[in-house]
Amino acid sequence: MIPFRVGFGYDVHPLRENIPFALGGLIIPHEKGALGHSDADTLIHALCDALLGAANLGDIGIHFPDTSPEYKGIDSKILLQKTMAMVRKQG
Ligand SMILES: [Zn+2]
Repeated sequence: MIPFRVGFGYDVHPLRENIPFALGGLIIPHEKGALGHSDADTLIHALCDALLGAANLGDIGIHFPDTSPEYKGIDSKILLQKTMAMVRKQG
């Protein structure tokens, strides 16, 4: 039997006019975008949460808090890279 782990992630951000709509690392042309501390890419945030959960590393809010200026406006692809580094380190 091949060992495997399962993680679950979801994410929600409000939509607002005149901000970029980041989804899955792309900017989707739309009159509204997701509002958040980072670029509010819900797909990547949910993926990070699933990966962290599968590795028993908590959730995205623990590692990348929305109170930290370090993550203000950050590209979520960077959060995904950091998440993958943590998951690999965890084994
Ligand atoms: Zn989010």
